[in-house]
Amino acid sequence: MDFPYKEQVEALQQAAERFYRLRYQMSNGGNLSIRIAGKEQMLVKATDVAFDEVGRDTVVVTDFDGNVILGDKKPSKEALLHGALYRVFPHIGAIMHCHSPYATAWAAAHEQLEFATHHSRLKLGGYVPVFDTRSYAVPKEYFPHILENLANHPDTCGFLLKAHGQVTLGKDMREAAYLAELVEETAQIAILSKIG
Ligand SMILES: [Zn+2]
Repeated sequence: MDFPYKEQVEALQQAAERFYRLRYQMSNGGNLSIRIAGKEQMLVKATDVAFDEVGRDTVVVTDFDGNVILGDKKPSKEALLHGALYRVFPHIGAIMHCHSPYATAWAAAHEQLEFATHHSRLKLGGYVPVFDTRSYAVPKEYFPHILENLANHPDTCGFLLKAHGQVTLGKDMREAAYLAELVEETAQIAILSKIG
C-alpha cells in the first residue's frame, strides 16, 4: 500500500534525524507525532524504532486513543499522551518528546526550567514545569494533572519529565522541534551558569 501523508512523514523523518544527529535522542526511545488536520488522528512513530530509522515503514496513523488506523506496527507507548494533548488543545499540531541529556539532568533536581536567557524566557512562554510521573512512560492516571497544568498556563509550550526527558508542543513539527532544541539549550546554559 502506498502510505499517504507524504509531507507529514517527511517532516517527522527530518526532525527525528536531526535530533538523532544532535544526540538529543539516542537509542530507540523518544517519540514524535503530527496531528492529521481535520481528523481525530495523528501520525506517530512506532515503538522500538530509533529516531534515525523514522520513515514511512516505521510510523503509524492512530486515533487519539492509540488505536492503529494505518500501518502494521505498534505505536510508541507515549502515543496516548500525545492523543490526550491533541484532543484537549486544538492549537497543538505536533509534539516532540526526547530524552535530551541537559533537559533531563535539569529535571532531576528542579520543579521548573530556569530561564538563563531572555530569549528562552520569551520563546518558551516563561514557564516550563517539571512533572514527576514516577514511570518510564507517562501513566494515564497522570494525564489530568498535566492537562490541567497546561490549561492554567496557556503560554506554556513544553514540560520536563523527571528521570525521563522533555516534551514540546508546536503548531507544526518545525516549531515543536525548535522548541525542544531551545529547551535543551536553556537547560545546558542553566547548568553551565551554576559552575564557578
Ligand atoms: Zn520517553
